[in-house]
Order: sequence, then structure tokens, then C-alpha cells
Amino acid sequence: MSAAPRKEPAALETEVREKIHLEILKRTGAYHANDHVLLPSGQHTTEYIEKTLVTTEPSFTEGLGAVIAKHFAQWPVDVVLSTGPGALILSHCVARAHPSRPIVVYGMKGLAGGKRRVTLPVEFQRLMRERTKVLLVEDLVSSGTTLNLLIDLVEQLGAQVVGVGCLWRRTSVEVNGKPVFSLVSRDFPTYSAEDCPLCRKGVPLNEEFVRRRAHRRPSSVQESKT
Ligand SMILES: [Zn+2]
Repeated sequence: MSAAPRKEPAALETEVREKIHLEILKRTGAYHANDHVLLPSGQHTTEYIEKTLVTTEPSFTEGLGAVIAKHFAQWPVDVVLSTGPGALILSHCVARAHPSRPIVVYGMKGLAGGKRRVTLPVEFQRLMRERTKVLLVEDLVSSGTTLNLLIDLVEQLGAQVVGVGCLWRRTSVEVNGKPVFSLVSRDFPTYSAEDCPLCRKGVPLNEEFVRRRAHRRPSSVQESKT
């Protein structure tokens, strides 16, 4: 009998936990796996996540938020800070489940001179002072830029980042040496069309997500001028 490599119980637990969380994200319609997807960059991949759909099921979001809160339960937290609508919904759920009963504040994302910027509304500034303990919450972390901006913002105010909790993190992302807890840590393999193993196998290319972006307009209504 050949001995299969045994996984450590902790690694196994992480793997099982990730599978459960992926299954939850799949049920929201946000996560697509085992596919052959065209990305906006022109690269091909096997997996795709639609960020806006991640927090559409309140009971799922509450459950996932509670897992993040439990991870940081031993740390006292005064404020949960996030930016962006999805992350804000999740941060409410994290704060609600954390034993310190932290308050929830959010930064506003914007662009300045082509560079990303995060601004904290004036009304929130008195809530983040010296020694305020801040837990950052993000839904999906792909480049880490937003989180690093949030960290700078907190430190500029003299407050302290106790950690970062997120639903999904690309494994390669580093976040300024802060403790990061993610429910799923995963990198999608991406391929150029020439090197794509799925193209070589003749698997049809799913262009839906790119087409949807290019051809569909968001629904909107406008107040009449009269
Ligand atoms: Zn391909």
C-alpha cells in the first residue's frame, strides 16, 4: 500500500471551510467555477466572481460576517471600517456579531488625478482618534490597493488597525504586514488565448461576463425637469 501524503488537521479544516464558503458564494450566483471564461483583460480563466452579487443574500452575508467576527473576537475592536457598498453590508454583519459591539463607519472611494483615493466623511473623523482600534472589512481583495489606502487613512488619524477580515483574497496579495483573515484564499489561473489549455481542448469560451459589461446598460431613472 502506498502512503498518500496526509494533510495536517488544521490544513484540512481550512480546506473544508473554504469549500463551504465557496459553495455559499456559488448559491448567490456570484461565483462561477469549472468554466472557460473570457476576462475583460482578454485573458482566459476557469473561475469568475461577480463582486456585486456577493452580498445579495442577507442570511449568507450574516453567516459569513459572523465567522469573520469570531476570528477577531479576542481582539477589542472599537470601529469596523470599510469602503464600497458590498464591503459595507458585510462590515455591518461583522460588527453586529463582534463581542466588542464596535460601531460601523465607511470611507468613500474616488479618483484623484487618475489615482484611487479613499476619503473619510468629516462626521466620522471624531470617531477615529488616537488608539481607536479599527478592524478593516473588505469583500473581495484582488490587488490590495483599497486596503492599503484604508490602512494609511487609519494610521494618519493616529488610530490602530487590529486586523483585516475579508470574504475572498487572492493568495498573492500582501497587506502591509497586518493580520489578514479571509474565508477563501484563492488565485485564479489566467492564460493568454494562445497558451490557454481549455482553448486547446476545444472547450467553448464563455464571453457572457465581458459582453454583459459592454452591451448592457444599468437601469436608471431621472427626475423630470418640470
Ligand atoms: Zn481559452
